[in-house]
Amino acid sequence: MLKPDSPLVSNVVISPNIDDRRSGLTPVLLILHYTGLPTVERSIEVLADPRGKVSCHYVVDEAGRITQMVPETKRAWQAGVSSWFGETDINSASIGIEIQNPGHAGGYPDFPVPQMAAVRDLCLDIITRHKIPAAGVLAHSDVAPARKIDPGEKFNWRWLAEAGVGHWVLPVPPSDEGAKLGLGDKGELVRAMQTRLAAYGYGISSSGEFDITTQYVVIAFQRHFRPARVDGCWDPSCKETLERLIDALPRPKLIA
Ligand SMILES: [Zn+2]
Repeated sequence: MLKPDSPLVSNVVISPNIDDRRSGLTPVLLILHYTGLPTVERSIEVLADPRGKVSCHYVVDEAGRITQMVPETKRAWQAGVSSWFGETDINSASIGIEIQNPGHAGGYPDFPVPQMAAVRDLCLDIITRHKIPAAGVLAHSDVAPARKIDPGEKFNWRWLAEAGVGHWVLPVPPSDEGAKLGLGDKGELVRAMQTRLAAYGYGISSSGEFDITTQYVVIAFQRHFRPARVDGCWDPSCKETLERLIDALPRPKLIA
């Protein structure tokens, strides 16, 4: 019987889909997902099915009830092929929370208030115990932009940040003014954009080509940080919002 790591847990269902964290890695990231399945019962069933080879540390249902499925010391199979700041074994370096929501394919309903409150409380508990930095609280789509879109643009990162969870700044409102970069563009402006996205952590190479992989990263950035317009175009609002984010990152204190 698993002893819950958090006092907020009300239910425990063990998943066999786990292994040890590799290379001495400990959790420095907290990855938020939606389940993309119709009910929490079905989600827990899938996350505990040895044939599925997926799992997660926690599941939060619509009413805010929290089920733990994997001990925090173990590596849950939640992130898949993913990358952040060059680390590609995100499962070894993170804790994962699945938030019950049928997802875009299932009508993508709003996340209910009691569910968001439970997500906030669980995140606060985890980031405090593991000293996870604000900018380490990420969407699955941030670390796997070419494959994943969860938890999506309806997820209220702003509200969470105001409650002390995650790193977020007020985005510059999108406008139709100014130059945009989009799929097929090439050159130094594209390279500069890619370099700044990588400086924030995104797994993107500075190729100077706005290819489909780059577009996926831009869409992931928009879902998380500029959700008013998720169109895959890099406009002045995206550029300025990213600069605000980078400026707002905590810096090492070199002067006493
Ligand atoms: Zn996910």
